[in-house]
Amino acid sequence: MKKFLQFILFKVSYWRESLREALSEIIWCFQIALGMEMKPTNPEHDMPLKVSVKKKIAISSGHGLHVRGAKGIIDEVDEARRVTDRVAKILTDRGHECVVFHDDVSCNADDNLNAIIGWHRAQDRDRDVFIHFNAFDAPTAHGTEAIFRDVCDKPFAARVAESMSKVGFRLRPAQNGSTMLGAAKRSDLRVLNSLTDREEVLIEVCFVTSPRDVQIYNENFESLCGHIATALAE
Ligand SMILES: [Zn+2]
Repeated sequence: MKKFLQFILFKVSYWRESLREALSEIIWCFQIALGMEMKPTNPEHDMPLKVSVKKKIAISSGHGLHVRGAKGIIDEVDEARRVTDRVAKILTDRGHECVVFHDDVSCNADDNLNAIIGWHRAQDRDRDVFIHFNAFDAPTAHGTEAIFRDVCDKPFAARVAESMSKVGFRLRPAQNGSTMLGAAKRSDLRVLNSLTDREEVLIEVCFVTSPRDVQIYNENFESLCGHIATALAE
């Protein structure tokens, strides 16, 4: 019963956000059509109704060329690199600053994590994003999720997970104290523990071991990357 109520509350907040976004789009379209200011402001608070704030985003693909991740129907490292590059290109095309890292050098897990963490630290960025894919022994395990460490990053993670579910992935159940579907809290991941000074999210796009997930992923790659880019820059 409690889970059901949480689910309903989550859906209501999502619908409210969607409605607000839709109204903002309609107002914006009218103003463009009438040749008015493209970034209208709310006179009460002098706050923009639709802001196009440029974000600086640092994205890295999980694991490395010589430190491979999960292998299933598809390969985690290969696909994480594809998603990373495509999302970065979309963000750059939309006017955001986006830098990308793939570890081609490290030969063990420790060096790999140090390389990824060191690279993120060296970037001038607002957000750190780590792209991974999930895997499990049973091919029935499926779904998408976004992992956060600090509770203040929970809405960011939930938004990213929700964006990926738009192509058909199931949102994984909330875990470890997170109350939001698709957003999992973890405090045992070194990349998240080491980079706490920025908003951060570790994305588990889907299961490389799930035939259902892989089919959705292959058929919707482009729109999936577009949705992720939108959520990362929001
Ligand atoms: Zn991984």
